[in-house]
Amino acid sequence: MSQAKDASKRSWSLDWTNVLFLSGYHLLLFILLPIYIINYDASASLIWSTVALWCLCLLAITMGYHRLYAHVTYKTHPAIEAFLSFWGTVATEGSIFSWSHDHRIHHRHVDTDLDPYSAPQGFWHSHMLWMFKTRPEINPRVIHDLWERPALQFQHKHYAVIMVVVNTMVWGALWAITGDPLGSFVIGTLLRMFFVHHCTWFINSLAHIWGSQPFSTEHTAVNNFLLSILTFGEGYHNYHHTFAGDYRNGVRWYQFDPAKIVIWSLSKIGLAYDLKKVNHLTIKRRLVAADRHLMLERIEELKHRIDYDSWSARVEEAAESLTANLNGLKTTSDKIQRLKDEKIQQMKTARDEELELLHQRFDELKKNVTDEMDAWKAMVHLILESPESRLTSLAA
Ligand SMILES: [Zn+2]
Ligand SMILES: [Zn+2]
Repeated sequence: MSQAKDASKRSWSLDWTNVLFLSGYHLLLFILLPIYIINYDASASLIWSTVALWCLCLLAITMGYHRLYAHVTYKTHPAIEAFLSFWGTVATEGSIFSWSHDHRIHHRHVDTDLDPYSAPQGFWHSHMLWMFKTRPEINPRVIHDLWERPALQFQHKHYAVIMVVVNTMVWGALWAITGDPLGSFVIGTLLRMFFVHHCTWFINSLAHIWGSQPFSTEHTAVNNFLLSILTFGEGYHNYHHTFAGDYRNGVRWYQFDPAKIVIWSLSKIGLAYDLKKVNHLTIKRRLVAADRHLMLERIEELKHRIDYDSWSARVEEAAESLTANLNGLKTTSDKIQRLKDEKIQQMKTARDEELELLHQRFDELKKNVTDEMDAWKAMVHLILESPESRLTSLAA
């Protein structure tokens, strides 16, 4: 009984450091910003430097805290790591340990009570109020791969001092560039911190509320292009929660994800390596599974007005065949790659013959997948996007 009481007391106790820091700087900003705007003109150099700082901080959180440390989706040169850790600390979002710890738990227990920023508990909880509550101690097992690294331990242990020092350095540098100490503090520090924080926090709140779910409806995460702009590529959160090990969030070439472009570019000059990427056929298979689920849901909704059995059989049959062809294509392409990588010269003729057969099989499967994918898209369009009256008038 007393243990239960203690647990409930703990879960509701306030983290006074966070409460005072977060509400304190918001209050200071809301008081100082109007005073500054009324009495002074912000110079162009101050505005542009602040925008540059905003970009650097968000890129460091996206590329560093999130994709490098929390998910280990690539590895990078120590100089790049130092750069990302510096700007990640300027962003003032806690130590790499605490950020990665909470984020890994968010992925593992998404939408449950164990999720630190669980979206079902409401916008304000997932956006910022969760930080006002005392969090359990860091469990080293959750971040075992980061825990033994001395530089990260140092950052975690002395986080408050380092955070104040780096932000003071940035303020000083801005002051030297613009000659405007008050503007550098109000706009370059407080307002920049405000924008960096709320943009990041939108990923925990809005990116679990407002957008589309093409890859999975098993969690609340959504894709939202606008949020990608605000966070340097983190808005494709439905994809990210489905394939968290991918170094990309905007998986299509045209999706706005500057972090993926920077990581990829660094890999081309040898400064990033071991980039983890989900195979495009695996992604397609996932899309088919998500579409299948949504179509069966719609058919279930309309089951009293349409021939439920034939419609669901049609969906299941098409999904099964397409998935089998996608699996076959993946296996065949893996085999081709393996054979190409083998360097056994004495078996060259046998290998070439096998390769030719595999290429024929690959072309066949590719044609099947292309045809079935076209039919699948037409079926998705018909079942999910047609008005109810059209569906009820059609035979399956
Ligand atoms: Zn999330
Ligand atoms: Zn993540």
